[in-house]
Amino acid sequence: MTAGAARNGTILLVEDEEDIATLVRAYLENDGFRVIWAARGADGVLALEENEIRLAILDLQLPDADGLDLCRMIRQTSRLPIVIVTARDEEVDRITGLELGADDYVTKPFSPRELVARVRAVLRRAEPDGLDGEMTIGDVIVQPAGRTVSVAGSSVELTGMEFDLLAFLAAHPGIVMSRERLLERVWGLAFPGGTRTVDVHVAQLRKKLDRPNLIRTVRGSGYKAVA
Ligand code: CA
Repeated sequence: MTAGAARNGTILLVEDEEDIATLVRAYLENDGFRVIWAARGADGVLALEENEIRLAILDLQLPDADGLDLCRMIRQTSRLPIVIVTARDEEVDRITGLELGADDYVTKPFSPRELVARVRAVLRRAEPDGLDGEMTIGDVIVQPAGRTVSVAGSSVELTGMEFDLLAFLAAHPGIVMSRERLLERVWGLAFPGGTRTVDVHVAQLRKKLDRPNLIRTVRGSGYKAVA
């Protein structure tokens, strides 16, 4: 994998059919995504825990799991964009998947080109440029409009960078964000300080909010906000 191959982030592909996985992976990589392929549901769950994933593609018929269960499980803790892949004519699966919170679906057999287009469309919808609405994680409320934060009803004073970092993590609950991505999205690409800056700000946030478990450290990967 070259560095340039991952410019669009990482996609988790949970698909037990190797031919399909290989083809989809090639198309996604060609489109600038890094792909983590899991042939089993359990491997997919593990990959989600340990990596910064931007979107998951879930096949519904897996050897060890029902993709719908996986979808349900992901939705319990995160708003990670999900595209489900289902066999032809299984309308019930398709509808159930959308009801469970999947963002879109493709029906087998599908063209890899179409899948990539769906992935891009879902990402555009899921990651709007501006953060606007109020966000709640546990008893922490983040209001981007007034740039205010309260914990259990009491307002907390944050610096501008601390606020931006918290707002970005809160806007993507349950999704692991690497230090590099946080630097890029919160501080801007030109920031010279390095990833240690992120650690320092996370530590300050934990202290000021008095919620040490709100922002979890994901070993080797980064951070995620958890209610
Ligand atoms: Ca399958």
